[in-house]
Amino acid sequence: MDACSESDARAQAGEAIASITEDAGVNLRDCYQCGKCSGGCPVAAGADLTPRQVIRELQLGRVDRVLGARMPWLCVDCGVCLARCPQSVDLPSLMEAICRYEVDHGCAAVREGPKFMDIFLDNLQRKGVSDEVNLAARYNIETGHLFQDVGGLPRMVGAGLIMSGGAHKLEDPSDVTRMVARLRAAPGQGGAGDREQQGNGGGR
Ligand code: SF4
Ligand code: SF4
Repeated sequence: MDACSESDARAQAGEAIASITEDAGVNLRDCYQCGKCSGGCPVAAGADLTPRQVIRELQLGRVDRVLGARMPWLCVDCGVCLARCPQSVDLPSLMEAICRYEVDHGCAAVREGPKFMDIFLDNLQRKGVSDEVNLAARYNIETGHLFQDVGGLPRMVGAGLIMSGGAHKLEDPSDVTRMVARLRAAPGQGGAGDREQQGNGGGR
């Protein structure tokens, strides 16, 4: 890589990091790498980067390592990291902002993430409640993971952990329908607004 393309790449990385941190409301300098966030994170052990490492890579300008990682998509937004952080670094928001950035730029590290969200919102918009049976069936078919989680199905149904939208249907879902429709049309939600923006060269 020559000096010019190196400086272009650095500038692009800087722009991406600024966009993500501004969206999340996080100042990377607040983090002094104590690792308390990672110590409490319930998904860090199974992820490719710990929450502390996500911040570190961004501090070092290595956004490519973060945008290719599964950690932001595995984050369950539990807030343990934020509660433990002595500097109140809002890592849950940062993880969300990274996922949003990836969706906006068509580079989601976990391709199935946006698909899951799309089907979830589609159900919510049509019925006013989440239909887990429909969600699981459509997700498996549309992602090609036909038998994913099928083994645990009898146990989950037996324990009442899976609800069909028919079981808890809202009498009048119109308020939820309108709310979800607005959300999906808004930029940054991976919905129609984003696809329109990308089609107009708004993918940046
Ligand atoms: S707990 Fe806070 S200060 Fe410590 S590494 Fe995590 S984000 Fe940084
Ligand atoms: S909010 Fe996300 S990053 Fe923070 S502890 Fe929970 S799963 Fe881990």
